Amino acid sequence: MQWLNKQVRPEILKLAPYVSARSELADSSGLVALDANENPWVPYPQTAEMSLVNRYPDPQPIGLLSRMANFYGVKTEQVFVGRGMDEGIELLIRVFCTAYKDNIVTFKPTFSYYKVAADIQGIETRELELGSAPDFKLDIDKMLGLCDNNTKIIFLCTPNNPTGSSMSLAEIEYILKAKPEIVLAVDEAYLEFSKYQSAIALMDKYDNLVVMKTMSKAFAFAGVRLGSILAQKPIIELICKVMAPYPLAEPCIRVALQTMSAHGLQLAKSRIDILISERDRVFAELSKLHDIIVYSSDANFLLIQVNDANKIYKDLLGKGIIVRNRHRDIPNTLRITIGSPIENDLLLAAFGCGNNVAKVERTSTVVRNTNETKILVEINLDKTSPIKISTGIGFFDHMLDQLAKHGGFSMNLQAIGDTHIDYHHTVEDVAIALGNALRQALGDKRGINRYGFAVPMDESLASCNLDLSGRGVLQFDAKFPTPMIGDFPVEMVEHFFLSLSDSLQAAIHLKATGENSHHMVEGLFKACAKALNQAIKQTSDVLPSTKGIL
Ligand SMILES: *Cc1c(COP(=O)(O)O)cnc(C)c1O
Repeated sequence: MQWLNKQVRPEILKLAPYVSARSELADSSGLVALDANENPWVPYPQTAEMSLVNRYPDPQPIGLLSRMANFYGVKTEQVFVGRGMDEGIELLIRVFCTAYKDNIVTFKPTFSYYKVAADIQGIETRELELGSAPDFKLDIDKMLGLCDNNTKIIFLCTPNNPTGSSMSLAEIEYILKAKPEIVLAVDEAYLEFSKYQSAIALMDKYDNLVVMKTMSKAFAFAGVRLGSILAQKPIIELICKVMAPYPLAEPCIRVALQTMSAHGLQLAKSRIDILISERDRVFAELSKLHDIIVYSSDANFLLIQVNDANKIYKDLLGKGIIVRNRHRDIPNTLRITIGSPIENDLLLAAFGCGNNVAKVERTSTVVRNTNETKILVEINLDKTSPIKISTGIGFFDHMLDQLAKHGGFSMNLQAIGDTHIDYHHTVEDVAIALGNALRQALGDKRGINRYGFAVPMDESLASCNLDLSGRGVLQFDAKFPTPMIGDFPVEMVEHFFLSLSDSLQAAIHLKATGENSHHMVEGLFKACAKALNQAIKQTSDVLPSTKGIL
């Protein structure tokens, strides 16, 4: 990377960076820490989340770096983690641009913080206007024509905020090749929502490429402030030289590690999928309106053009909905973030297309992680498949399968518990997570009806009466002839339904008679499933969510 030293600010090359007390030692764990003038006690409230907040955090925690590297498919040494991508943008400018001399190049309209961050540091921003709607095409050669010897960074946002349009890898590669000594910073804040491939694929080939990532949008982390810069090691080292001494807060590091776990990523993925299908639904509905143009988008927002953006912006505000008025950048446009299905229904209803609103499926996803169990439950009350269940307890899997199958809903339930100790925690925690998932999927809809079902199984008879009343009550009447079914303790059955009734906030009355414990238990699960099946059926097309507006 011969070009690098020529481009970096000379004083940053020479800079002796701030050295924190602990970074002088490779491993300070287990030592009596009297080196950093910290306070020895954890402050109030002394919850688990607060542990270690009295200590200075690791400036670049290796565990988090390696998880990010793994996730993005780069080397740990190629990652910097900071307080959102915004901080990464500032630091890149700080490393490369000398005030009142250098410039950055980008296009417009785009994410406005590149220019603001440059302005703050006394750096000129050169912007090329994008082509007109609906393609917002970038004339790459013309943009490159803005570059001179003092151009240090080209910022490129794809998918672009606010147009939602994307650039292909070939176009990005064209710029990397054309300007091999200028850093190309590709902002992929919305890439998770798009079909395009990440520019990371080009990192091995072009050492002037910097890819900027954020957890704010796709990972629902806007409040945590976490973003990364992916680049070759020498660039990462320069960024670390100019970063704040301890950019990441200890609680944020801890939360991020949990979110980047397998379960966390699975939950994020399922929500990204929902947002993409919601984007397509809102796009289709708004496109039917005559006086609105909706531009296609690869992100979690839509840009629409209307006759009078200021008026519609105010109208929406009057209906309790705030969108982003981009009139100043692109005349008469509004940028609308894709929200939850219910929020999107409210938006569509405000535009008068509430009657055409597609039926929103009643889904939920619950993740429950404790020291004893890690559980993921995904439920769709309006689909009957797939049903995927794995708890590590064969008999329990079988019963839960009955519950979903005869309940008439789709369920993915994955639990990893301390079943080597006993089944107690797993059965109880699954019941809690399942009840919560069912309750969330049902939304505000409380059954006032009482549903009941009786299931004969050979000599046994099981019955369930169920009311989604909003209050958790269990009446359990069953005497089992044996304490075990295989290796499953039968006493856990009552315990399961107790936890379920509590978390689902339902009154559940169960009764079973018989001579075979397996038959009786299976009968109880089936009867409960059948009663649930009746209770969760939607009897009217009116969406509870739009009632307030229609
Ligand atoms: C939201 C956004 C960011 C900021 O990300 P943070 O990590 O929250 O700082 C960066 N780039 C674009 C294009 C954005 O829309």
